[in-house]
Amino acid sequence: MKICSDHRDYEVPLIYTFSWAYNEYWCPYCGKHEGMMGAGENVEETEELKKRLELYKEATKDYRHAMGVLICSSTEWEGVQTKLDELPEEEKNRLAEIRKKSWKLNQKAEDLK
Ligand SMILES: [Zn+2]
Repeated sequence: MKICSDHRDYEVPLIYTFSWAYNEYWCPYCGKHEGMMGAGENVEETEELKKRLELYKEATKDYRHAMGVLICSSTEWEGVQTKLDELPEEEKNRLAEIRKKSWKLNQKAEDLK
């Protein structure tokens, strides 16, 4: 699996996501974005790293979604493909709020929640 090469003392699996254009890999720990080619370092998959990835994925789900809708031409709303402009104001505001709060970096997976 791919981990971030910037902090080998705390190994963080990169999240594969379409939330940022042209950068499919994202490190939820230091915030580094990398494209598909040459991202991170390949290490053997361990239970610990798999668990860490799951924790980060779950914790960043809303944030990644809120960022992702900005670069998509459409998003799913109540099961229907909808243009971003056509989302209810309430949902647009909710997503904007999440983006504003942003995701706090430098959080270890074990400390999440
Ligand atoms: Zn990193």
